[in-house]
Amino acid sequence: MGRIKEKALALRDGFERLAGHVLFPESASCQVCGEYRLVNEKYALCEACMRALETLRPPSSACDRCLFPMHKQKGCLMCRSRKMQDIDKSYAPFCYRKEARKLIHELKFECNTSFIEYLGDRLFESLPDRAYDGIVPVPLNKKRLEERGMNQAELLAEQLSKRTGIPVLHALSRSGYQKPQSKTPVAEREKNIQGCFHACMYIEGKRLLLVDDVRTTGSTAQACAKELKNAGAAYVGLCTAAVVYRHPKKMRLQRSKNKIWIKRIQR
Ligand SMILES: [Zn+2]
Ligand SMILES: [Zn+2]
Repeated sequence: MGRIKEKALALRDGFERLAGHVLFPESASCQVCGEYRLVNEKYALCEACMRALETLRPPSSACDRCLFPMHKQKGCLMCRSRKMQDIDKSYAPFCYRKEARKLIHELKFECNTSFIEYLGDRLFESLPDRAYDGIVPVPLNKKRLEERGMNQAELLAEQLSKRTGIPVLHALSRSGYQKPQSKTPVAEREKNIQGCFHACMYIEGKRLLLVDDVRTTGSTAQACAKELKNAGAAYVGLCTAAVVYRHPKKMRLQRSKNKIWIKRIQR
């Protein structure tokens, strides 16, 4: 970005912040940065945060199947390790970093849904092929559902259903109590989630789209997809608001101008 354009944007942000203080009550603060700015009424976010979110798009060169950045020589390492073999295609509007991470934390842990329309619109945009018979939210276990009073995956699934006309199917149930995946070491996540999802609907031959808030190691999504495929689903897509770029092997994200890829860490 040119220096002049950068300065002009900074000036505009400053003005927005000032105008926001004067013109808007407390409720008009942006849900990401918390600043009193001119917030977009529909989205409850300020222009600066929305621009920042735009830069968190997964790279167009990412693997179609898992959205993981490709290794320069070896292709997709996630697909090679067969960590998500029952997922046929992935979609996500954001990489799980900075503003996108804050947004999902607000939704998941603070039950803040004021920007749900924003996530709904971005999820819809990230889904170019809509040939699905049903949208299946990843179920939350009973205890956590009682604690939170909502399942964020279900809210996102409803948003997507409203925009695509594809019905929400509660095709999966969840049994037992598992430690939260976010508090489980990466290597144990697959084991932690094993056998807790059960298909509870006739889905033979159906094309289903799994929906969740964030994909970290992919083990939750894989456990769900495996169960859906075992119950006869013909195709399983996965749509999450964000994906985490972390590889089980010693790989690190490299970033250059407009490009993200991964590289083996030299030790
Ligand atoms: Zn903001
Ligand atoms: Zn892949």
